[in-house]
Amino acid sequence: MKIENKFPTKDISLEDLKTKFPLVAKKNSKHFSKFDIAGVEFGGDLIPIFAGPNMVETKELIFDVAQNVKKSGAHFLRGGAFKPLTFPYRSEKYTETREQGIKWLKEVKDEIRIPIITEVMEEKFIGLISEVTDIIQIGSRNMQNYPFLTACAKTGKPIMLKRHYGSSLRDWLGAAEYILYEGNNKVILCERGVSVPHTHRSTSRFLLDLQVVPAAKEVTHLPIIVDPSHATFWRPWVKSMSLAAVASGADGIMLEVHPDPSNSAVDPLQPIDFNEFKELMQLMDNVAKASLNRRVK
Ligand code: PEP
Ligand code: MN
Repeated sequence: MKIENKFPTKDISLEDLKTKFPLVAKKNSKHFSKFDIAGVEFGGDLIPIFAGPNMVETKELIFDVAQNVKKSGAHFLRGGAFKPLTFPYRSEKYTETREQGIKWLKEVKDEIRIPIITEVMEEKFIGLISEVTDIIQIGSRNMQNYPFLTACAKTGKPIMLKRHYGSSLRDWLGAAEYILYEGNNKVILCERGVSVPHTHRSTSRFLLDLQVVPAAKEVTHLPIIVDPSHATFWRPWVKSMSLAAVASGADGIMLEVHPDPSNSAVDPLQPIDFNEFKELMQLMDNVAKASLNRRVK
C-alpha cells in the first residue's frame, strides 16, 4: 500500500491518518480492533450475522423472525421501528411502529434471548432506544449529521455507522472519527451500496462497493460489515453478493429476512425468506472456513 502525502486531495493522505482521523487510523499494519458486544466478538474469527425484517411491522412478525433467524445461527436481530422512508406517504401497512416497535424489540430480546440492532433517526429518541438496543444503527442518511453522531456516541453504546451512498471512504472515516472522539470505541462500519449513474433502475438502485472492504482495512482498525440487501435491492442477487462479501474480508453481514418477502411492508424486493437464510448461513460459513480461516457459525 502506498499512501501519498498529496494535499489537498479527495483521496486519503498520510496527513489525514495523522491529523484528520488519528483515532480511526491503524497504528501499524497488524492493528485491528477486537471487541465484544452482548457476548459476540467483533473483529476476530467470527463473522457475526445481523438478520431481520426491514421494519418491525407487528409483534407477531418480529417474534417469528427472531425465532427463525436465531435457530439458523444469526447473532443479532435487526429491524427498524423508526425508519427513514424515502417518501412521506403512508398506508396502514406502510407505517412506522416507532415507540411501540421499540417495546416489541425489548420483549423479543428478553423472551427469545437475541441481541438487537435498530436505527435511531432523531436525537430526541436516543435515550429511549439505547435502553433497549445492543447496537445503535446510524443510517446512511444521517452519516454526516455531526451533532447527531456526537449525541449517539455519548451514550457509550456500540454504534454501527452505515456509509452514505454518495460518500467517499475519507468522508466515512471522518464521520467515524466524530464517534471515537467522544471516547466511544465500539464502532462498526457498514457498506450498504453506493449510487453511480448506471444504477438508476429498479433492480440496481445501488452498487455494492466490495472494494471498500480491503480499502478500509488498509487504513482503519475498525471492523467493517456489508449489507447486501440494501445494496442490491434485489432478492435474487443477495446470496451471491453475501458470499462475495464474506470472501472480501467483511467482519459481519447484515441481511433482511422476512417470512413472506414479497409482502414485506418496506422494500419487498430485497428480503430473503427463512429457508434461503438458513441455506445462506451454511454457505457463508463454508466460504469463511475454506478461504479465510474464519467462521459464521
Ligand atoms: C436499514 O438498514 O433499514 C436502512 C434504512 O438502511 P440504509 O440507511 O443503509 O438505507
Ligand atoms: Mn431498509
